[in-house]
Amino acid sequence: MKYAQVLFPQKIIFKNQKDNSLEELNSTLTYKIPENLNVEKGSLVKAPIRNSQRIGIVLRISEAEPPFRTFEIREIMLPYPVLTNSQIELLKWISSYYYCPIHQIIKLFIPKKLLIAKETKKRTTKPKTREVEQIISSKKKDLTEEQEKAINKILKDSSNTFLIQGVTGSGKTEIYVHLAKYFINQNLQVLILVPEIALTPQTIEYFERSIGINASVIHSKLSEGERIRNWKDISGGKSKLIIGSRSSIFTPFKNLGLIIIDEEHESSYKQENSPRYSVQRIAEKIQELSKDQQIKIVYGSATPSIEIAEKLKNSTIKLFNRIGDIPLPAVEIVDLREEFKKQNHSIFSERLQEELRKVLAEKKQAILFLNRRGSSSSVVCRDCGFIYKCEDCEMPMTYHEKTLGSPTMICHHCGKILKPPSTCPTCKGVNIRFLGIGTERIEKEIQKLFPKAKIVRADKDTTSKKDSFKTIYEDFKNHKADILVGTQMIAKGLHLPLVNLVGVVLADIGLNIPDFKTLEKNFQLLTQVSGRAGRTDTKGKVIIQTYNPDNLALKYTKENSYDEFFKYEITQRKLLLNPPFSHLIKIMVEDKSLKNCQTKTEKLYIQINKILSKLNAMSEVEVLKYPAYMIKLHSKYRYIILLKSVNREILDKTLENIAKEIIMDTSIKIDIDPNTTS
Ligand code: ADP
Ligand code: ZN
Repeated sequence: MKYAQVLFPQKIIFKNQKDNSLEELNSTLTYKIPENLNVEKGSLVKAPIRNSQRIGIVLRISEAEPPFRTFEIREIMLPYPVLTNSQIELLKWISSYYYCPIHQIIKLFIPKKLLIAKETKKRTTKPKTREVEQIISSKKKDLTEEQEKAINKILKDSSNTFLIQGVTGSGKTEIYVHLAKYFINQNLQVLILVPEIALTPQTIEYFERSIGINASVIHSKLSEGERIRNWKDISGGKSKLIIGSRSSIFTPFKNLGLIIIDEEHESSYKQENSPRYSVQRIAEKIQELSKDQQIKIVYGSATPSIEIAEKLKNSTIKLFNRIGDIPLPAVEIVDLREEFKKQNHSIFSERLQEELRKVLAEKKQAILFLNRRGSSSSVVCRDCGFIYKCEDCEMPMTYHEKTLGSPTMICHHCGKILKPPSTCPTCKGVNIRFLGIGTERIEKEIQKLFPKAKIVRADKDTTSKKDSFKTIYEDFKNHKADILVGTQMIAKGLHLPLVNLVGVVLADIGLNIPDFKTLEKNFQLLTQVSGRAGRTDTKGKVIIQTYNPDNLALKYTKENSYDEFFKYEITQRKLLLNPPFSHLIKIMVEDKSLKNCQTKTEKLYIQINKILSKLNAMSEVEVLKYPAYMIKLHSKYRYIILLKSVNREILDKTLENIAKEIIMDTSIKIDIDPNTTS
């Protein structure tokens, strides 16, 4: 007789059960396998729990009879195991690495609908098979020398992981196409990860047309029917070309050979709720666990993350030129303090107005960009550019209009709370400004200046509905509007041939967020948004408006020098022992009451310090506590405890002691390798 240990996608709690451990025990049960069922490791099965039937996945098979009474597995849901050994390993690894109960992780691997037990009826309707459309292959492009070299290196080099660091418009996509073709011809599956697939149907089309086959697409906005169909095509090995967003990395591939991660620097590659995984980390783990097939990983970006660039510095391929030798747009920095002196009180500098006028006269297009993280912002003097900093921490304080009732400034380093000043402490000027403008205001002002121009706006308000960004984007691309006003979402890798001008209306928002990644993120954002200008025209121009023209993110953007940025930033990281030279774990405490939030944080902070002292590791781990940058979000107050150490094991040992408590408490969120410490 054989027995199967089945993992269910929900926590199973029995009467008298006190223990709430992280371990599988909590969601696995042992069953007898009936002789007539071909149950294997990785099979999806239906089994009884109390009076109901549930669907779960077989994690282990053993011959040893358990010391308790067992029920029988009822049914096998799919004729083949849905997870391979290495996928089961991956599932367990995610649970322990990211401190996430294992039953929550199955849902990443298997479509929801397949995990719900229904009365099984014999299917009367045949499953819909996808119509195989005739794909007309597009004309072959001659590769540039840089592209050719990159492809050869990736295919021939003994290394398995590569980074393509190529300026915006250098033809990275075409490289992916060639690599994908090569692997598909070897009968291997290729996964192409893109940051926001729902927004870019033309990406899918481009790949399908260039490679000449249909793609299976996996992203969060699919209908459950589409998801299951694509999932089966992939796990059954029928699909070779898979294009997806973050979550598609968990599809049970049949024989994966290549993973491409485009726009590697994008924050959407990290999940914001539990498990807070990063797709880069998962891809590397998949590569490591894959035994039968070597998997290659190719990252691509004009502005790769510091971590990836450092890790892959010996297998980085650089592309310096835009296709067609179109120069990168000239970046001009406009000092807003000077505008103020000139009595220009508009939110647009004279230079930006002038360039806008030109673009409109030439029947081209412009993008006006505003950083979204501006709900709380810094306090600056419009006369001298002075930024209000905490006297103790030297960190810029942030302005909050309503968060705490009346206007306040908060130091997100030590938690100090002050009333904002009415005059500048340096020049005694009275023009203290709390930086912050909205996209709506920009739209209104621009319409006043150019009454005939057609303007569209893309931000959270205008794109909350499904497909609304797509519509705005398509309209803009088809020149139904002259100016696009928008936030972060328009900085993504969009190809808009008519855009000749990009204006960053107020670069200062976001420049001073107290976070070890602030410079990196600002440089990436500004470079990416600049890259939207002049993609087919030599007259591309970028105008960045700021009160802080000396800021390094602006300097490196203007010089268009990723290398200089990297050199500076990696030195800083080393100096301050920030990632990749250390490991971080962020614990966020939330509560509707500020007081409770502070008390809870304090308690946890003391508890962690006690554990560290017991482990004799006080000197090895730095523990910080401070209010989150957005101290109040969704009507909850938020405090952070940050653990930092060069030694990852000691961090794990520390957490082990409190992991159960933290996981059970929904007001505490744990983030391993956080993307932001603020
Ligand atoms: P990136 O992803 O590096 O920003 P893209 O892949 O979008 O750049 O390429 C920019 C443009 O150049 C696209 O319109 C693409 O079709 C075109 N392109 C790429 N490679 C070639 C080539 N070898 N010859 C001609 N055009 C190319
Ligand atoms: Zn302070």
